[in-house]
Amino acid sequence: MIIVMKPGVAPKEIKEVVDRIKKMKLKPHVLKGTERNVIAVIGDERNLQREPLEAIPGVESVMAVLKPYKLASRESKRENTVITCGNMTIGGNRLAIIAGPCTVENQSMILQTAKSVKAGGAAALRGGAFKPRTSPYAFQGLKGVGLKFLADTRKQTGLPIVTEVLDPRDVAAVSAQADILQIGTRNMQNFELLKTVGKQSKPVLLKRGLAAGVEEFLMSAEYIMAQGNYQVILCERGIRTFNDYSRNTLDLTIIPALKERTHLPVIVDPSHGTGKRAYVAPMAKAAIAAGADGLLLEVHPHPDRALIDGHQSLSLEEFAQLMKELGPLAAAVNRTL
Ligand code: PEP
Ligand code: MN
Repeated sequence: MIIVMKPGVAPKEIKEVVDRIKKMKLKPHVLKGTERNVIAVIGDERNLQREPLEAIPGVESVMAVLKPYKLASRESKRENTVITCGNMTIGGNRLAIIAGPCTVENQSMILQTAKSVKAGGAAALRGGAFKPRTSPYAFQGLKGVGLKFLADTRKQTGLPIVTEVLDPRDVAAVSAQADILQIGTRNMQNFELLKTVGKQSKPVLLKRGLAAGVEEFLMSAEYIMAQGNYQVILCERGIRTFNDYSRNTLDLTIIPALKERTHLPVIVDPSHGTGKRAYVAPMAKAAIAAGADGLLLEVHPHPDRALIDGHQSLSLEEFAQLMKELGPLAAAVNRTL
């Protein structure tokens, strides 16, 4: 159920509705918009239906949300959610370009990459400190030391940091250093992890599961939002299909499908989506043309020597070139870089 407030209502009127909902042992979520606020009500709504909520001053209408995802749904909030993180906005007019290595290898390579991608126009730095690896014998990331290198790099470059968290027990430590917490594809339905990142205040970049449908994807976003963290960025990163020419199949149709169903920003990761350096730039461009709010790109100073995912990483020069080519494309879809 959502309660749509009239434009320009006083905080006192919102509080009145919130208090009434709490009294009914239901959970109110105030979703703030630029024009109007809505209050989403989660829980057993049978009591609510008997309440004359429409009579409360400031309430414009009361509506049922038919979708199983409530807070993430466009029915609850018509306007796009814009997430602000340092100088970067995600979901607004400016495209959010997040670039960096698959994993932080040492201090100098992360700093070199950060300076270079910043000069090329990236708004944030990515880099894994905790890595989800298929093999337990493969490099698992620098963990706490990697987080420290990322935080030092932010201090020197001003770029916000996006980094993955794998375990609910690490959420507090990662949240203390990172600007955006990434939930990887393998953890899209790790519900305890989703609940834990939902309880902290940094934005969450949620990657689509390897075989997740659009509803499952949005239900995972809902898990985070139900805990009170409404800053969720959805990321398409390719799904498993029978195709044998790329690592995954980058499903760009999900961009308009998500835009129809949710107000949350949608970005695309063509690096994991294709798994091949030569395919990254064409699919990055296609993603922007299809309405993505930004890109997550793997960039490495020496892709041939990268510890992880060198085959899909752009060199510093290739990243700079892609950014130049994205300029006119962004303008063609009324976005800026
Ligand atoms: C990553 O972005 O570093 C990563 C591991 O991606 P995914 O979870 O999409 O495989
Ligand atoms: Mn990677």
